[in-house]
Amino acid sequence: MKESDSELKQEQIRFVLMRPTHPGNVGGVARAMKTMGLRRLTLVAPQVNLPSEEAVRRAAGAEDILYTADVHGDLDGAIKDCQLIIGTTARKRSVEWPQLSPEQAAEKLWDASRHGPVALLFGQERSGLANPEVERCHYLVRIPTNPDYSSLNLASAAQIMAYEVFLKGHASPSALQDIPRYADQESMHRFYKHLEEMLLDLDFPIARPPVILMRKLMRLFNRARPSDEEIQILRGILSAVQQHVAKKS
Ligand code: SAH
Repeated sequence: MKESDSELKQEQIRFVLMRPTHPGNVGGVARAMKTMGLRRLTLVAPQVNLPSEEAVRRAAGAEDILYTADVHGDLDGAIKDCQLIIGTTARKRSVEWPQLSPEQAAEKLWDASRHGPVALLFGQERSGLANPEVERCHYLVRIPTNPDYSSLNLASAAQIMAYEVFLKGHASPSALQDIPRYADQESMHRFYKHLEEMLLDLDFPIARPPVILMRKLMRLFNRARPSDEEIQILRGILSAVQQHVAKKS
């Protein structure tokens, strides 16, 4: 792979920090990213004023990444153009989500970055990723640790993931397969809304409690990673069912 291709892909890989509370950690993530050639840092609803003295101190020469970080009020705004979203988590979740090793996640991020922006999400220091944030993810990654003490510092987790991405980027070029254009987060979001509307039109019992059924359906479709074309087909089917139901009633 030519160096310029590699740089282009690095630009597409976004590290997204959810509601970070410690400026030092944000600085530490910037440093972790820069050491591994990554530079697109995104902060969602940061709980700290940045760049602060502490963040700059911990960035230790990677302040440029702090100064150019994108800041968004909510996650959907931060990832709406992304066609692959992977979440990092220290713990198992009540609804099991497709899991990848750090190495597999890095490979998927690297390969998908050929087609546009991709995001790796990191949870808040104390609480980790919230369920609605996990629902946006195609996969989750857990860095293997001591099972009795599994929570890494945010910047340490970012360092490990950045290193894995770096290794993928510097391995032999991956085969240039013909990968379809995957639907981005915004069209998946619209599809899920449409699916929920259609189920309500059908009087399908989604209300026990509704969020669990929708979460499982989201997990199913996220696992399938539909292409743009497949989402259009599915939405066409949903509309046809809705028209049919409307005619009958
Ligand atoms: N108590 C929280 C820990 C948050 S640590 C929880 O149980 O989820 C802050 C963030 O660092 C996590 O949300 C995750 O993004 C990352 N992180 C920490 N340990 C990790 C691990 N073992 N594997 C993957 N990500 C991890």
